[in-house]
Amino acid sequence: MKEALLAGLQRLEIDLPQERTETILRFGAAVLEKNQVMNLTAITDPAQAAELHLLDSLTLLRVLPLAGKSLLDVGTGAGFPGVPLKIAEPTLRLTLLDSLQKRMRWLETEALPPLGVEARFLAGRAEDFARAHREKFDVVASRAVARLDLLCELCLPFVHRGGYFLAMKGALAKEELHEAAGAIRLLGGSYERSEEFEIGGAVHSVIVIHKTGRTPEQYPRSWARMKQKPLR
Ligand code: SAM
Repeated sequence: MKEALLAGLQRLEIDLPQERTETILRFGAAVLEKNQVMNLTAITDPAQAAELHLLDSLTLLRVLPLAGKSLLDVGTGAGFPGVPLKIAEPTLRLTLLDSLQKRMRWLETEALPPLGVEARFLAGRAEDFARAHREKFDVVASRAVARLDLLCELCLPFVHRGGYFLAMKGALAKEELHEAAGAIRLLGGSYERSEEFEIGGAVHSVIVIHKTGRTPEQYPRSWARMKQKPLR
């Protein structure tokens, strides 16, 4: 895991102090160990986990300056991308959100305390938290949670005006962006740019959406409604 992470960091020109890299590796090892008894990830090979989980999460360091920012990770699962980012940039004010209570409890009570990683935890569905935490975050990030049009409705309400939503996407990034153009506009966003990174031999994209307006009060709708009638 270590060789793969160090090689990847060098390739992406991400420079981290050794102790932070070591802590990120300890977190990666904890995920793989817990994965034997709790369903956290389909990736079990340590070198692949280093690329596809740890390094992929850290690409966001190349996209925006995150020092001192508040960041919400929507659908964090086993902690990606939020936890590696917080270890790499300790001044980040991290909030992790996921609807699966078991994963959140593991992160909060078992995984993060021994690593000294501090975060806030929101266990529940993003669409249910959006009113209480509306327009509260500098940055919202999300990976592997939903198609971009639906994801924008889940994530953009949390971003304050002037902040950013970072959607981590794979091969279908361009199609999803095209399909989500109406939703982005309607929800107060403005597509800024996409950044591409080579991760595990494939191109991964980070779609950067700037929050330039307000999200109308009626969004997000229920998940059933979003899926039934995606914004266009
Ligand atoms: N982001 C992590 C990653 O990239 O490894 C986890 C991805 S996993 C495929 C999707 C996660 O999103 C699951 O843990 C699921 O519980 C969560 N999720 C899906 N829809 C959600 C919603 N509406 N609100 C909160 N969490 C959600």
